[in-house]
Amino acid sequence: MSYIQFLGAAGTVTGSKHLISNSHDSAEQPTADAFQFLVDCGLFQGQKEWRLKNWTDLPVPARQISAVILTHAHLDHCGWIPRLYKEGFTGTIYATPATVDLCGIILPDSGYLQEEDAAFHNKQKSSKHAPAMPLYTMEEAQQCLSHFRATPFGETVQLAEGISFRFVRSAHILGAAMAEITLATNGTQRTLLFTGDIGRVRNNAIAPGKVVHSGPTEGESPDVLVMESTYGNRHHPHEDVLPEMAALINATVKRGGSVVVPAFAVERTQKFLFLLKDLMEQKLIPRVPVYADSPMGIHAVQIFLKHSEEFSPETKELIARHGTPLQWPGFHFASTAQESKRINESHFPSIIVSSNGMCMGGRIQHHLIQRLPDPRNLIMFIGYQAVGTRGRQIKEGAHEVKIFGEIVPVRAQVAALEQFSDHADVDELLEWLRTFTKTPQSTHIVHGEPDSAEALRQTIVAQLGWQVDKAKYMQKDEIL
Ligand SMILES: [Zn+2]
Repeated sequence: MSYIQFLGAAGTVTGSKHLISNSHDSAEQPTADAFQFLVDCGLFQGQKEWRLKNWTDLPVPARQISAVILTHAHLDHCGWIPRLYKEGFTGTIYATPATVDLCGIILPDSGYLQEEDAAFHNKQKSSKHAPAMPLYTMEEAQQCLSHFRATPFGETVQLAEGISFRFVRSAHILGAAMAEITLATNGTQRTLLFTGDIGRVRNNAIAPGKVVHSGPTEGESPDVLVMESTYGNRHHPHEDVLPEMAALINATVKRGGSVVVPAFAVERTQKFLFLLKDLMEQKLIPRVPVYADSPMGIHAVQIFLKHSEEFSPETKELIARHGTPLQWPGFHFASTAQESKRINESHFPSIIVSSNGMCMGGRIQHHLIQRLPDPRNLIMFIGYQAVGTRGRQIKEGAHEVKIFGEIVPVRAQVAALEQFSDHADVDELLEWLRTFTKTPQSTHIVHGEPDSAEALRQTIVAQLGWQVDKAKYMQKDEIL
């Protein structure tokens, strides 16, 4: 038999990890000719009960997993790969060329943060484990990169007898793909489609600031669909975000404050910088200094520029008009800790874009400690804030937050702009499903908070009449 087992992003929005095995026996004792592989291998983030699972072994020993098919470079999809490698994985990781490049900066950075975190707990003696260990180190993350194989969109890869796959566009972030997998045995064939994260529609008014292709691949026809549901119960606002963004920035600068924007260094930061540039050129906001404070910032922009085949028409036009972000006057990319510190000490109005996007690590923490207590400042969220993260607490109106063991009062203005999302909302998801050329035999909802996953399940059942379930953590389903 072949089966699929949900090892993450089931009952929660992070830790995407799905095992596919053509073992004729159980996972614990696979048959000798079994081929076992993962689709995505992400970190659990957010709530502690899920984060602790990053330390749990998989039901299949890492050395028995022959491949990972990686949909995209977000940590909740790729961030457990170095741990898999550390546990004995020696197989191949297949990803699109842009995803391979992005993982080259994201995974070592994640290892660095894991080491920093462990060192912090050791210093504070705040871990039950002595000494606290990193999940993996920067060096281990670097080593696993040699196992990546760049696989262009549309190219069919034969993994083993009767098992092949290809990447199709998901339009989520640079390099993001869905994995179309074909399993065949004894003359029977099944197609599985793993959506990864699904990007937004092809409409710049509805989904502003798209820097890469938009619109997921249409006309799919899988037998089994494994689908994300991050925004399964929500509708993105349809109003143009730029006037609101300009009004918030203008009001902050007028009262002598700075704008702090927690954003992932990859994609979201580039998208935001492009919109700032646009607003400044149109003279809708003043030309205050813009700091992209992330060690990954410059690297991410370089990778972004290298993959011009993925640009949206708007991005092409902006670069043609104004050059690359690295050349824009007034835009600064901080790479050293010293440069970061200087931004921190500045008392003049500025716009600071820093990661990580959910305020759970990285340099944004220092900017928050510095800027949260002052009511002149503005914290502007432009990304999804998962339950249990510091970003979610601030967004939901917490009066204080704890950062590096310090209680920091929240007196700054807090705003959230939802239009920047790189995830399709429920209407866009349904619009995409309606392009399918046949009804899948089964649809499994993953990668959503429980309410969101359930809402999407009910909507698909009601509107399309499909057979849909919510995948549960460790649930195993026979495919063939
Ligand atoms: Zn993603």
